[in-house]
This record gives sequence, C-alpha cells and structure tokens, in this order.
Amino acid sequence: MITLKRSEEVALMREAGHLLAEVLEELAAMVAPGVTTSELDRAANRAIRQRGCFPGFLGYDGFPKHLCVSVNEQVVHGVPGGLRIREGDLVSLDCGLIHQGWWADAGLTVACGEVDPVSQRLLDVTREALRRGINAARPGNRLGDIGQAVQDHVEANGFSVVRGYTGHGIGRDMHEEPEVPNYGRAGRGVEIRPGLCIAIEPIVNQGSPGTVVQPDRWTVVTGDGLRSCYFEHTLAISESGPEVLTTTGPQEDWVD
Ligand code: MG
Ligand code: MG
Repeated sequence: MITLKRSEEVALMREAGHLLAEVLEELAAMVAPGVTTSELDRAANRAIRQRGCFPGFLGYDGFPKHLCVSVNEQVVHGVPGGLRIREGDLVSLDCGLIHQGWWADAGLTVACGEVDPVSQRLLDVTREALRRGINAARPGNRLGDIGQAVQDHVEANGFSVVRGYTGHGIGRDMHEEPEVPNYGRAGRGVEIRPGLCIAIEPIVNQGSPGTVVQPDRWTVVTGDGLRSCYFEHTLAISESGPEVLTTTGPQEDWVD
C-alpha cells in the first residue's frame, strides 16, 4: 500500500533528510587514501547519534554496520571492514537514519583524489541521471517517467542501468511501496501524487549491467569487474513538484 504523507509528516522527514545530508557531507570529506571503510562506518555511527538519530541500517535485514561502502567494482551493500581506500578509487557511501520515527536514505559516490577519465564520466553521468529522475518526479507523471529519464541518460552515455536494485517509497520504514525502478517507459506505472515520498537511486555500471552477490551475502559486485557508481536522494512530492529532502544546499542544485 502506498501511503501519502501529510505536510506535518513531510516536515519531520525534511528534518531527517537535512540531518542525513550533514552526516554524508562529513563522511564524503573523510574519503582519502589510507582511510579504511570501517573508519567511515564508525564516523557514520558517531555523526548520526550525535544528532539524536538512530543509524537505521544497523540490523536492517540483519545488516551488521551503520553504512554501506562500495568501492570501485562493488555496486551496493558493501560491508565496512579493513578495506583501505586508495587514490583513484570510486567510493559509494549509502546511509540511512531514523529521526523521530521517520527515515531518510541517501548516498553518493565520491572520487578519491584523481580518478581516471572514464570513472569521472561514470560519476558525472550517474549524478546527472539522478537529477533527471528527480525532475521527472512531478504530480501527474508516472513512475515510468522517472525510470525512462534515468535510463535514457545512462544509456545515451554508453553505460548500463543495474536492474536488480531499485528506489523505493520511504517514510515510517526505509523501504515502502512503490518500487522506483531506474528504467522504464514514460507514462507507465504508478501515478506520482502530492504527498508521495520516494528515494530515487540510480545504480550505474561502466560495463554490462549484471551483478553478483559476494559470499558475505551482502556485497554486490559487477559481473564483469568494471566499476559502478550510485547516487541517491529522498524526496517529497508536493503540488509544485519534487523537493529534495536529503540536501543542505539549494533546491536549484537538483530541481529545474
Ligand atoms: Mg534507498
Ligand atoms: Mg540508500
């Protein structure tokens, strides 16, 4: 069942989103050669709890950490540990928190220092795909408009959309209905209405879209060993269009 949020509920999700954006800014600034993914995880836990929130990923479906860190060919759900980040890596940070019972879920890929030109293009294309998806999230459109906006931009640039992991409704739980695929046909699917709160999260592979789950049963890697990239925002739809909740910057950074 899709639940549309009332304005006072969106107000709490806006607070949650702002707090998570602050956390992610701290984490992104930590990405540097020599830093381990578990150091990022500990920093995430600290930054979330300092803000009076709960690190919602901890224990979610049994996830053992507070943050997902996926490096290079790792696609999503990377479990923090001893892995040491190196110059030239693409580091995807995916984080969620619960604030007064309401979720925010967001993430980004950070380039560690200078990355090769293809990696930089992969990052730029994925970020722009999210921006285009957000701008398709307007009342009267359908979820297929979001999916097609993301997919068209990714494929026009020669990259591929990972199919098995999607965006989602969000609110009292991290994953609510509806699913928000990163592919599709405009005009198809659930209608986008004011009060709908969703996370859009394009996951884009440099090469083929296939993925494999590692023996740790969490970490997803690309089937071909090439790199992957990811950006995510939680947004609320109002009469006037999408509002990005998980940002501290101006809406104009993301919304036309
Ligand atoms: Mg999500
Ligand atoms: Mg997420």
